[in-house]
Amino acid sequence: MDMAKMPQTGREVRLRSRPQGMPEESNFELVEVPVPAPGPGEVLVQNIYMSVDPYMRGRMREGPSYAAPWQVGEVMQGGCVGQVIQSNSPALEVGAYVLGNQGWREYFVTRPDQLTPIDPGLAPIQAYLGVMGMPGMTAYVGLLDIGRPRPGETVFVSAAAGAVGSVACQIGKIQGCRVVGSAGSDAKVAWLLNEARIDSAFNYKTVADLTAELGSRCPDGIDVYFDNVGGDHLEAALAHMNRHGRIVACGMISVYNATEPVCAPRNLFQVVGQRLTIQGFTVGDHGERREMFYRDMGRWIQEGRIRWKETVVEGIENAPRAFIGLFKGENFGKMLVKIGPDPAA
Ligand code: NDP
Repeated sequence: MDMAKMPQTGREVRLRSRPQGMPEESNFELVEVPVPAPGPGEVLVQNIYMSVDPYMRGRMREGPSYAAPWQVGEVMQGGCVGQVIQSNSPALEVGAYVLGNQGWREYFVTRPDQLTPIDPGLAPIQAYLGVMGMPGMTAYVGLLDIGRPRPGETVFVSAAAGAVGSVACQIGKIQGCRVVGSAGSDAKVAWLLNEARIDSAFNYKTVADLTAELGSRCPDGIDVYFDNVGGDHLEAALAHMNRHGRIVACGMISVYNATEPVCAPRNLFQVVGQRLTIQGFTVGDHGERREMFYRDMGRWIQEGRIRWKETVVEGIENAPRAFIGLFKGENFGKMLVKIGPDPAA
């Protein structure tokens, strides 16, 4: 970028206070700060998209979660894709598109080894925050390595029209499984049937009895439950698990805003009778699978076997609202916030 046109200030979002229960916009603060100058060996990145993810709710809390807590009064972190606009390093040229971990701000300075260059010719840059990024790899590792589905088995996925769930559903189909999904709107259910092409899908908000509905959708029982929701969905799935079934504990979004400890599913004894395995995992522990993930996912996308949706909220000032929307089902597919200029501009 022409030095004369270099921005003087940029905006960032800080954690103003820790939420009790559902986060509110007042827990966040938008602040204008000077754009930092890159030092020797560093680059200046202008963010274009930032990611909001359910796991960030854990980082708003004090105390241990699987990602370190954010500090009150400080700018938050998260996945982002942007473009290098100033470079003091031969490792990254001005104009390069990069994946980073300094979302929630318009500009940042870092060393090139903290960034992953991305190829905008292979997939739209924001896909590296979704289907080709952390959520896609979560679905890949979770279903294939933890769930280990075999052809002909029944896989049930909750939050099935979300970033992780929609990919888990389609990988299940690629594995030759019968896939059943639950989601929170009729439009999401229609997309799962018509675009993701899974075998059965239902709107959990309009069914009279979740456990009974799931049973009717899975006449041969469930072999793999990919759990994104916990709570009532876990209890319903436990009721229908087949012997030696596997429960992939990916996330439990229904309890992230709970202010009291939540009850375990009331039917946990099913684990004994049905010889079930419940295994939790975090995608960050599976870096050794990244190359294989890129290879398989790239091929599946090219072959039209994986489709995806995005909900894009415009403007960093709306990032808190986008984040809160995750807990209200406002996203269809990956929730993204666009905070910089179009790549083509
Ligand atoms: P999504 O894109 O799925 O967005 C969250 C969705 O969850 C919402 O759109 C909503 O969809 C659904 N939801 C929200 N509240 C509830 C509720 N009370 N009951 C049922 N559904 C609810 O987010 P991600 O794909 O990014 O994440 C999905 C899950 O995967 C989360 O639990 C997350 O924590 C977990 N995760 C785990 C990782 C790991 O390494 N283990 C890594 C990444 C994500 P709807 O309209 O259907 O209600």
